[in-house]
Amino acid sequence: MTNLDFDRASGFANAALAMLKRSQIPPFPVYYELFYTYATGANSELNSQINAILTRSGNISLEEATGLCERFLKISDMEDRLRAMSEIMSRKITDVNQAIDYAMATANSYSGSLQQASGDLEAGIDEDALKMLSSRLLKETRRMQDMNRRLEAELENSKDDISVLQRDLDEVRKESMLDPLTKIPNRKCFDEQIILDLQRARRDDTTLALLVFDIDHFKAFNDTYGHLTGDQVLRLVAQVLKANLRGRDMPARFGGEEFIAILPETELRGALTVAENIRKSVQSKELLKRSTNEKLGRITLSIGVAELRAEDTVASLIERADQCLYAAKRGGRNMVVSETDLPPNEEAGVA
Ligand code: GH3
Ligand code: MG
Ligand code: MG
Repeated sequence: MTNLDFDRASGFANAALAMLKRSQIPPFPVYYELFYTYATGANSELNSQINAILTRSGNISLEEATGLCERFLKISDMEDRLRAMSEIMSRKITDVNQAIDYAMATANSYSGSLQQASGDLEAGIDEDALKMLSSRLLKETRRMQDMNRRLEAELENSKDDISVLQRDLDEVRKESMLDPLTKIPNRKCFDEQIILDLQRARRDDTTLALLVFDIDHFKAFNDTYGHLTGDQVLRLVAQVLKANLRGRDMPARFGGEEFIAILPETELRGALTVAENIRKSVQSKELLKRSTNEKLGRITLSIGVAELRAEDTVASLIERADQCLYAAKRGGRNMVVSETDLPPNEEAGVA
């Protein structure tokens, strides 16, 4: 964070606190966020509503503030956040364009004045006309300097706003790639990464392995202990995956209670060791319900492992790893099955 960022944010924060104090509204985070947003001017509709209330009664009541929070602060949804950001961005671009238009018009008129002055001087003028000319030029030069200062300030201001927006955008982009429950990459992120990793493997003439995981009898676990406890289990599995993967390996939540992992530059044998470690690690955890310390038993994973072949597409590689997973389920669950364990007809996709 630069000093400028710090100063700007502190300015907004002070303004927000001053408004809370003036209206005797408790500085709870949600009210603070409301007035902080007001201070930034990021939401013009919010600002015009607050301004209307202030003009009418000089103060904002707690009820009015609560109503405004409900209306304006529901921006947790990714699409809404992106929409809000794109609105700010487009307003910023309009501001800069206007400043540039004004600067160009002033510069044109200045250049016209200079041209005229040079014509007058060439034609020869008397002392009084020279005085008038120089005072006119002085006035125009000051106007030009003033315009330059305004443009500079507008650009400086926009530069800060744009870098704040850029950071927000980066954050949203990163968030859009993470599964909100387990905080590991989501399906969308996996879909993009597998294409890149496949291309890299082909380019560098290396291989890669794909692991697919499915929690065994998870429906029964949810039915017995509830979905919230089930969600804790999903987080635990994600943690185990992360703990057992290294470097450029990437785990992801593939959907529901299924996970997937890309292991670049890894042959089947190495991938099987990793898969077996993950299987053992999950099995070894005795689950406890946090609130009551009630023992919930253990959960297990079935895992399928495939290695990239020359003729593979992304779909065929996933399909083969999936066949291995189904074979692990049929084989009794809580096991790792590699593509070399598949009978030939099954490997061809005739399960
Ligand atoms: P199998 O051993 O054959 O995989 O049996 P299973 O019960 O795990 O498989 P099934 O596909 O029948 O059920 C998957 C269950 O996963 C259904 C649902 O209750 C649970 N599940 C999927 N997504 C979530 C989630 O986000 N949270 C929780 N708690 N459970 C989920
Ligand atoms: Mg499943
Ligand atoms: Mg399952």
